[in-house]
Amino acid sequence: MIIDSHCHLDFSVFDDQRDQLMIDCCNSGVSGFLVPATQYSTWSNLESLVKRYPQWRVAYGLHPYFLKDASLDQIERLGHQCETERVVAVGEIGLDLWPGSVDMAIQMAFFSRQLLVAKALDLPVILHARKSYDLIFKCLREAGFKRGGIVHAFNGSFEQAKRFLDMGFVLGIGGTITYPRAKKAHRVLSSLENSAFVLETDSPDMPLHGSQGQVNTPLSVLSVAQHAAMIRDESVEQITAQTCANLLRIFPMWYEDLH
Ligand SMILES: [Zn+2]
Repeated sequence: MIIDSHCHLDFSVFDDQRDQLMIDCCNSGVSGFLVPATQYSTWSNLESLVKRYPQWRVAYGLHPYFLKDASLDQIERLGHQCETERVVAVGEIGLDLWPGSVDMAIQMAFFSRQLLVAKALDLPVILHARKSYDLIFKCLREAGFKRGGIVHAFNGSFEQAKRFLDMGFVLGIGGTITYPRAKKAHRVLSSLENSAFVLETDSPDMPLHGSQGQVNTPLSVLSVAQHAAMIRDESVEQITAQTCANLLRIFPMWYEDLH
């Protein structure tokens, strides 16, 4: 059994193939999916899709890259949404310093308030952090947020990894490690403890090496696991068992309400 800890299966690019994809995943042993929301306008679609796919787990949040149409009153609705829907986390939330992102003061206002929602509900968070680790640490500290979660698509240094781990987070490891030139990512992954990371695809984005330009799917989490096993000189079975255990440690509610 293997879980994709970060995939956007609600995106419309999957509309024509979602049912078949879920069957293919099941046949390949990819049996769990964490689907974090991005924008307020997509929450209700995600809400109905998760009723159709009981193997999905969801998080609601306002993604930093898509804040152009966001308003602060949506954060009040976020608290209500997380209380009334079955969620495992708040997310994805964070800070994105990529060109084209909205003003950093606005991003920080949304991020900090969403951290407080997660703190009030005692939920972990799914962090989106692009070129922004130091600011993320600052916001986590100021919010007094200690519940941890996942640092999605972690690509920082070993020291930054350690800092997140000390704050109760695990690191999301995805398609980046399949690229031969990603030497730093390989080095960091090979030095981490077994308890430090989970596997993800970020589907439909972040295609694996050799599949650039194609729609990524959760099936590629198998290849991410194989690469992680090679890089760490462990078996694929060890990687999948340990990363599942790590996920369940962060999200002890993962299998609640399934019966
Ligand atoms: Zn994402």
